[in-house]
Amino acid sequence: MFVMRYWRTSIFGNSLLRTVRQNIHHSGVNQLSEPSCLQKDNIRYNKFKGHPYVTYDGVKCWNCQTILDIRPCLFCKNCSIIQSPEDQNLNYFELFNINVQYDIDTVQLTTNFRKLQNLMHPDRFSNKTEEEQLLSESFSSLLNKSYTTLLNPLLRGLYMLHLGGLSIDEDSITMDTTFLYEIMDWNEKVEEVNTKESLASLKKDVDDMLVDLYTELSKAFSENNKNQAKLLLSKAKFFSTLLEKIKDKDVL
Ligand SMILES: [Zn+2]
Repeated sequence: MFVMRYWRTSIFGNSLLRTVRQNIHHSGVNQLSEPSCLQKDNIRYNKFKGHPYVTYDGVKCWNCQTILDIRPCLFCKNCSIIQSPEDQNLNYFELFNINVQYDIDTVQLTTNFRKLQNLMHPDRFSNKTEEEQLLSESFSSLLNKSYTTLLNPLLRGLYMLHLGGLSIDEDSITMDTTFLYEIMDWNEKVEEVNTKESLASLKKDVDDMLVDLYTELSKAFSENNKNQAKLLLSKAKFFSTLLEKIKDKDVL
């Protein structure tokens, strides 16, 4: 199995990312052998080609100092104490142990979410120390936030863009003129709609537009075309907001 590996060289600070490919037989982090000169560097593990996203600094158990050799690590293998999600710098995909990719199995996501939510629930830690209770709260809140984000196709796309170092900051988006005219058209349609039938038909049109955009978005992410993903997400955000306007609109 091929794993892309990234690290930042200390000489160039954070500005230079070097990439190395190593052919390894298993993806377990603990089984990777590091050249000794790189051991102190931040190492970036990547499951999504071209998107370095995780900084791993050889995190240790806060209680007994044993190195945490799996990601995500929920409990220390030595002292069995709950670990900190912040210390591990876990991203939402890693938390659920799924690959960073746009097309995800949402049934699997929900199953993983329920298992983890049950395992880390604060009620289970009510007899533990204050530190452990706080960590369980921290895990629970991260689980809820991550699940909500990954389940929603727009939020998932925006999060992946964020992992790739981009956002849909409106000032930096160059929309094609055709789409700007389309925006005006769609807004007018929503303003003018005055029957239940036409409202339902408009809602279906917007739903269809979103389905098409999410299909294109999946392709853009799989091709690692971040700029295309950014443009598609800006459009999806517009249609998503329009859909909310349609749902809020009352017609007789
Ligand atoms: Zn420990």
